[in-house]
Amino acid sequence: MLLEKSTVKILVLDDEPFMHKLLARMLANLGFTAVTTCDSGAIALASLDSPDTPPDLILLDLNMPEMDGVEFVRHLVDRNYSGSLILVSGEDERIQQSVEKLVRAHKIAILGHLCKPVLPYALSALLEQWTPPWAGAPRAAKKVYDANAVRAAIAGGKLVNYYQPKVAVATAAVVGVETLVRWRHEVDGLVMPDQFIGVAETHGLIDELTQVVFSNALADARVWQDAGLLLKVAVNVSMDNLASLDFIDFVAARAQAAGVAPQQIVLEVTESRLMQDARTPLEILARLSLKRFRLSIDDFGTGHSSLAQLRDIPFDELKIDQSFVHGAWNNATLRVMYDASLNLARQLGMEVVAEGVEDREDWHFLRRTGCDVAQGYFIARPMPAADLPGWIADWPEHGGLADEVCHGR
Ligand code: C2E
Ligand code: MG
Ligand code: MG
Repeated sequence: MLLEKSTVKILVLDDEPFMHKLLARMLANLGFTAVTTCDSGAIALASLDSPDTPPDLILLDLNMPEMDGVEFVRHLVDRNYSGSLILVSGEDERIQQSVEKLVRAHKIAILGHLCKPVLPYALSALLEQWTPPWAGAPRAAKKVYDANAVRAAIAGGKLVNYYQPKVAVATAAVVGVETLVRWRHEVDGLVMPDQFIGVAETHGLIDELTQVVFSNALADARVWQDAGLLLKVAVNVSMDNLASLDFIDFVAARAQAAGVAPQQIVLEVTESRLMQDARTPLEILARLSLKRFRLSIDDFGTGHSSLAQLRDIPFDELKIDQSFVHGAWNNATLRVMYDASLNLARQLGMEVVAEGVEDREDWHFLRRTGCDVAQGYFIARPMPAADLPGWIADWPEHGGLADEVCHGR
């Protein structure tokens, strides 16, 4: 059953009563009438702890005298708040963007931020792109699976590799693919990696998982190679895979058995948590590099990856995180991050891959700025291995992107 806008619960948290009236009126004009207001974080938390259903959306002021908005977000995280958030503040754009990133890192759905004085059209623009609870299926909290289920999925061959093309920006030629694992779940359908990689890492299952993903990727790479498609195949490697030197032999032996040259294999590494002993991962990566496997630093710029890693590890490729790519053509802060990452990679002689290329504007921006390789929904979504050769065969017709004129700088 579809819900009415009028039943969607919205909380306005702001220390200024004037803002309560203003925002409640703007929301009412947009059809949202189930609005409550609150002037302190402590009171808002007390109501969140009550048995009432929590709000679907919170409009949160960042500057409040006792508990500020950032601290409030931390309490929302502790309470597994599953609704959405809009930040409201008079702070400058950079502060708002950094808080927005922080909220995203906490996996809270954030629609964006509003600068005070809040303009009605800005509010309605944010609400328009909300995937709202009244639009269809009830909002299910993202299911996270337990270790036994993940173990069974790995052992039972339920993991499948999807592949997302990477194309050269200058020529639009397909140069490689990134392997992205999915779980074909009997009941829940296709389960995405963020719902089970973390579990695999914390429960000692990530080595088994990576072995399965890597072996399947090599088998597919061999099939493509035999069909005359020479693609670099990238596999995501968890920092936890780099805890034992056995990983080197495993990778080398599997590649050799599959008949795929190390130069065709890219290992994408993200530092997802603090390294307890940095020496072993360093040694493993250095030795894999000596064996001519290509090393890539993933999600660059997110804080998961660091300058120290760039200094210490012989990476061949740097992937600029999607959060600095999509929309960078139109956003000064993103542009600074993008340029800095690109320049750093250039100076260190690394190839640069931009992730999250979602539209034509993003693509032209990469062309103008001289990025090497692009990956993202604008080019193709991740697809099953069997679909890739067909997609590549069609790509020149649909693509034509290399010939497009791009204007201005
Ligand atoms: P990643 O390695 O940074 O992979 C890129 C993610 O961005 C993928 O999400 C991909 O589907 C998504 N993506 C691609 N193009 C776009 C775009 O244009 N816009 C947006 N918004 N997203 C785009 P996915 O498949 O859900 O994977 C998420 C993360 O899970 C990966 O991030 C990687 O860190 C991890 N992961 C995936 N497979 C494996 C694996 O086999 N082993 C390990 N350890 N981690 C994996
Ligand atoms: Mg990756
Ligand atoms: Mg990435």
